[in-house]
Amino acid sequence: MYDLIIIGGGPAGITAAATAINQRLETLIIAERWGGQTTYAMQLEEVEGRETITGEALLDAFRRQLDYLDFVRCFDTVTRVRPEEQHFVVDTAQGNRFEGQALIIATGAKPQRLNVPGEARLVGRGLSYAADAHASLFLGKDVAVVGNGRRAQWAAASLARRAHQVYLLAPEPLVTTPLARKLRQMPHVEVTEGVTVREVLGEKYVEGIAVTMPDGQEREIPVKGVFVKLARTPNSELVRDWVDCDSAGHIIVDAYCATSWPGVFAAGDVTLVSEQVLLHIGDGAKAAISAYHYLLMR
Ligand SMILES: Cc1cc2nc3c(=O)[nH]c(=O)nc-3n(C[C@H](O)[C@H](O)[C@H](O)COP(=O)(O)OP(=O)(O)OC[C@H]3O[C@@H](n4cnc5c(N)ncnc54)[C@H](O)[C@@H]3O)c2cc1C
Repeated sequence: MYDLIIIGGGPAGITAAATAINQRLETLIIAERWGGQTTYAMQLEEVEGRETITGEALLDAFRRQLDYLDFVRCFDTVTRVRPEEQHFVVDTAQGNRFEGQALIIATGAKPQRLNVPGEARLVGRGLSYAADAHASLFLGKDVAVVGNGRRAQWAAASLARRAHQVYLLAPEPLVTTPLARKLRQMPHVEVTEGVTVREVLGEKYVEGIAVTMPDGQEREIPVKGVFVKLARTPNSELVRDWVDCDSAGHIIVDAYCATSWPGVFAAGDVTLVSEQVLLHIGDGAKAAISAYHYLLMR
């Protein structure tokens, strides 16, 4: 039986595993993919070569600690997790069954794509799903944000501090928040509700976005950046039936990354914490230390 099983190989899971191993816990990390969503970096024509700290680079030091420890890693998909007496049982798609005394869920979230021409080709070439990480690259440029919820509003506000013009293109009416009211008053933020995105334009880099306006008029807006901030789905289905989650499915954690179920901790995008590698690295470490304390006190 393992002391700790970590599900997820993104920033939260990898840092949790590195921290747990440093605490000499018998640890297993199970992931479909190594590196999670950080395996993607933004390149822009005019800022190539500029010094930026990528999520990939931040994570690398922790990942290197695990690279030679084959026995702590398992590349597989977890299909079921259940509590059993004083421990947890984890089943995988390849037919493995593992048991652990504590669990860290770091399975991330699925970003909702636009699913329009140009999107897949221009990811990392002006098209981003991570405003916190990439907003600073768009200083003085025109950008579009697609979405209507809180995450889209935060992204638009963050970009408004740097960009020349922000187009907030909301497929549906903006969720009512104090920030929505503020955004509507900002002179360099144009909010349009009821927009349909048809295409992200550009050959090598984003050059614009083609939309249908609420009155049916077709418009091409020249922008250098497109930030897709549609609703995302936390990958919490493995524990949603027995661990408390919010209405959107985020696992609810306390300040120590502990969930409602003793011995189960969570970190990263599967919780409500802002989607930024830097924060998830900290939370992964925190979850592992909390699991260590939990195991000490059992
Ligand atoms: C396209 C894109 C680009 C981004 N770029 C940046 C950036 O440059 N800088 C930045 O700070 N932030 C960036 N972000 C945000 C950042 O990548 C995420 O917030 C971060 O990766 C979340 O870390 P995580 O560990 O919670 O989950 P993830 O990175 O999503 O990792 C989840 C892990 O869980 C595994 N997993 C899920 N379900 C299962 C299962 N059932 N069984 C086994 N394994 C499972 C996955 O394979 C993966 O290894 C980006 C996000 C996206 C979508």
